[in-house]
Amino acid sequence: MTASDPRLHRDPKRLKENRRKFSGALVLKMSKTPSTDGIDSHDAGREEVELVRRQYLESEQQFRSLLESLPKVAVQGYDRDRRVIYWNEGSTRLYGYTAEEAQGQLLEDLIIPAFMRDGVIQAHDAWIKEGVDIPADELQLKHKTGELVSVFSQHLMLNEHTDSPLMFCVDVDLSDQKRAHRDLEFATRFDRLTHLPNRQTFEVDLNSLLDSCRRQGHGLATIYLDIDHFVEINDALGYDQGDRLLIELTRRLRECQRVTDLVSRVSSDEFVLAFPGVHLPPDVRRVVRHVQNVFREPFVLDGRERQVTACLGVALFPENGESSRELIRNADVAKNRAKLEGRGAVRFFQQKLHDELVRQHYLSARLEEALDNGEFSLHYQPQVSAASGRIENLEALIRWEPAEGPPISPAEFIPLAERSGVIHRLGDWVIEEACRQQVEWRAKGFHEHRIDINVSGRQLVRPDALKSFEDSLQRHGLGPRDIGIELTENVLIEADETVLEDLRRLYHRGIHIAIDDFGTGYSSLSYLKHFPVTALKIDRSFIHDAPTQPKDRAILEGAIFIGHRLGLEVVAEGVENAEQLSLLREMHCDLIQGFFFYRPMPAKEIDRLLGGFVPGHEGLSS
Ligand code: C2E
Ligand code: MG
Ligand code: MG
Repeated sequence: MTASDPRLHRDPKRLKENRRKFSGALVLKMSKTPSTDGIDSHDAGREEVELVRRQYLESEQQFRSLLESLPKVAVQGYDRDRRVIYWNEGSTRLYGYTAEEAQGQLLEDLIIPAFMRDGVIQAHDAWIKEGVDIPADELQLKHKTGELVSVFSQHLMLNEHTDSPLMFCVDVDLSDQKRAHRDLEFATRFDRLTHLPNRQTFEVDLNSLLDSCRRQGHGLATIYLDIDHFVEINDALGYDQGDRLLIELTRRLRECQRVTDLVSRVSSDEFVLAFPGVHLPPDVRRVVRHVQNVFREPFVLDGRERQVTACLGVALFPENGESSRELIRNADVAKNRAKLEGRGAVRFFQQKLHDELVRQHYLSARLEEALDNGEFSLHYQPQVSAASGRIENLEALIRWEPAEGPPISPAEFIPLAERSGVIHRLGDWVIEEACRQQVEWRAKGFHEHRIDINVSGRQLVRPDALKSFEDSLQRHGLGPRDIGIELTENVLIEADETVLEDLRRLYHRGIHIAIDDFGTGYSSLSYLKHFPVTALKIDRSFIHDAPTQPKDRAILEGAIFIGHRLGLEVVAEGVENAEQLSLLREMHCDLIQGFFFYRPMPAKEIDRLLGGFVPGHEGLSS
């Protein structure tokens, strides 16, 4: 039953009826028990009186036991001066006084809190003198200990028009309902584990904070915090340690919080904070540093100290959003961007970032569909011999031409495919298509060139990736001279033993394995001797600046030299002009790939090129 329960509300008819019955019983209790004195000696008359007397006694007994048997219903009776004349067991439970303690005490001294005292006395007076009912109501009355107790209280007046009117109060204990209500309210507004406001509460609080910032012309910084690799902590150490981390983090965040700042936990490992009055770049940097410092000390988890990090996204009011929802979303966008950069990164929201993320989301969602619709194709970029200018190999480069809209660069969609896992399907498609094309070219009599395909690191996460590559070759009747692969340095460094074993097998079978974008990844060269590779493809950034930048030139020369000393073929990527070409020739680079000779082109154009229908490039004859 709640306070709004209609059963508890005053129904005047019912109340009157109750009062009549109640009054009957109480008249009995208050009036003297009928005596047998003065009753004539008629037996019949005596019996009748005796019967009525017994009925009265029984009725009073029943009434009393009814009142006593209701543990949650406290009934008290007060005389004209509001002194207790009746106090049931329920009243003792509810207010702490025993019947003996309560007897004769004033209502207002006993259970009425000071702030209600005058009102109660006046209401009681008005009832007795003018018949103004005291309406039933939800009240907070006083326990013996001084604590307030929530009750629903109804009042009845007996012997109303006599000299000794009695007021009876029937109070129902509402503390369970109140507690349940409070618990429910807490659960809907706060996080159970950390007791921080949840997302909804934070949104409301932030909106009112923004109102006051607006009035005072203040700025505000919103910081979205996401713990790095929280899932791993949960998986490795168990949920209780994960919870422990969250609680400790909450404690630290609260410690660096000013009264006006807001902190909330919005999802499992995500917190959002708001700092009003923070606007100028140095202030923003300061609060960001504050939040970062929370992670400076290690966290003790499972008895051991562990360094925990988090990525932060920052959105500023008013420039990055006017409402709490907008600010939280944009801080989240910035945080997601920070996540891409790795542990502990911080990013500030920029509209450009947001647009980029929206586009990435759209493209990711479209990738599978695009595969089904045949929107992908392979283009091929020839690699020519630096010495003779002959086309030696072709690098297969994937192209996405959506049915609608402009082509999308692989530099944009390959990372998305890697993240979403579509790279496996995409990679399989590339292998199949390159094999199919090579078989077609071989059938046309083009036997010289090899096709190199790019294999991304994520593809190798699948344990059978390289085996399935070999199977494809076999299925198409192709061998090591037909198809090669390109991997980036980082892929090799991060490869596990199974991948390395597979690579060694490919290597020993004579399959061409090139290190792509050489020079941009790992900074040590010593790894080169450990890996089963056959060629280095020097990144185009070194080629680009070599003619003018002595340092790039030195690196280029060094890379070619080392490659040769290790018995590797050296390819220069991104050669765009004659100076670069002559430099590379001087340095005895083996193969040249770049726009100066050929751009990547569709298979049909390669057909014409290999068939001799297209005149050679000027670079070939020089
Ligand atoms: P990459 O493997 O290093 O490919 C060379 C990139 O340089 C290609 O860009 C190519 O068009 C471009 N390029 C070639 N010559 C020149 C030049 O002279 N100047 C300039 N400025 N650029 C030149 P593309 O086709 O946009 O591919 C970008 C990257 O996407 C590739 O870099 C590769 O990492 C990845 N990619 C392309 N196709 C595939 C594929 O089928 N599978 C996988 N996993 N990755 C691919
Ligand atoms: Mg490549
Ligand atoms: Mg490259």
